Amino acid sequence: MSKQKRDPYEVLGVSRNATADEIKKAYRKLARKYHPDANPGDNQAAERFKEVSEAYSILSDPDQRAAYDNLGWAGLGATAGGTGGDPFAGFGFGDIFGSIFSDFFGERRGFRREATGKHIRISLELTFEEAASGVKKKITVKKHETCSRCNGSRAEPGTSPRRCSVCGGSGVEEIRQRTPFGIMINQTICNACNGTGEMVDHPCTLCKGTGLEEKTKKITVDIPAGIDDGQKVIIRGEGEPGPHGVPPGNLYIIIRLKPHKYFHREGNELIYEHTINIAQAALGDTIYVPTLVKGEKAKVKIPPGTEMNTIFRLKNKGFPNVNGYGRGDMHVIIRISTPKKLTPREKELLTELKEIWAAKKDGS
Ligand SMILES: [Zn+2]
Ligand SMILES: [Zn+2]
Repeated sequence: MSKQKRDPYEVLGVSRNATADEIKKAYRKLARKYHPDANPGDNQAAERFKEVSEAYSILSDPDQRAAYDNLGWAGLGATAGGTGGDPFAGFGFGDIFGSIFSDFFGERRGFRREATGKHIRISLELTFEEAASGVKKKITVKKHETCSRCNGSRAEPGTSPRRCSVCGGSGVEEIRQRTPFGIMINQTICNACNGTGEMVDHPCTLCKGTGLEEKTKKITVDIPAGIDDGQKVIIRGEGEPGPHGVPPGNLYIIIRLKPHKYFHREGNELIYEHTINIAQAALGDTIYVPTLVKGEKAKVKIPPGTEMNTIFRLKNKGFPNVNGYGRGDMHVIIRISTPKKLTPREKELLTELKEIWAAKKDGS
């Protein structure tokens, strides 16, 4: 697993706001150039082909593209317990190429197998503090897994599926058509066997012939520090299993930030409002404000004569950049409260002050 991976936009040579069509076009051009069939024995071309393919698999999937735009590789590279960091885990390589290459050479149309199983989406609530420091979370996902009784064969143990007589086991039906340009072959999924190529006469009693069992799986997720509300962490290969040999889908974890008692967040900047009284505003003071580190306070010096809505900036006390570049600041906005419910002594002092200020105004 290479750590310093290239930006997929750079790999495909497209801009960050390229349309789906531009991405597809760029991809096809490069895939054709580097395809192993066109470069036999050329390892460098094979590597490039792999890189181009991965870039396309990310940028052609709106969810993955959004996650990459938000978080960079951190949004895609999260690894679950049991799943390695291989970027190709759960990526339906052959399947995507099968269909695209048919398109290139124009002889097969109208049929495309799913590249992966279904994706699963769940949301995960985090506190500001967790989002700021990054956190390992155990999550529970309900999903299907290969049936433990028939091992996914769909047939009752002791029996075996037979080859589909309609499609001869290919799972695909071909319809040939003569056209002015030659023979066109249209492919569709075989209706009789649903594309599996097999017929099951004695379905497995546990999964009722689906080959799948519903299970709850506990997964540990590394949430990167600095993640924000609405951003996604993708765990490749932890979605629903794909049908017959197709790799599983992905697990999308959508982050929800719980509102905080004191703080607001704007990008990586942390906003905090602190109210002082008129004496503190006039005379100046030192206040202590909460931070994103639990139990840790930061000192703010209020100079004499501080006005309402003055903002003090505490450098690097905001959220870290989720890609690891720098950190936001904390902004302490000063509010000034007007005293109410005065004690006799307070009233006496303020009255005196009022008279002094009135005299000062008259005298000048
Ligand atoms: Zn079964
Ligand atoms: Zn069939």
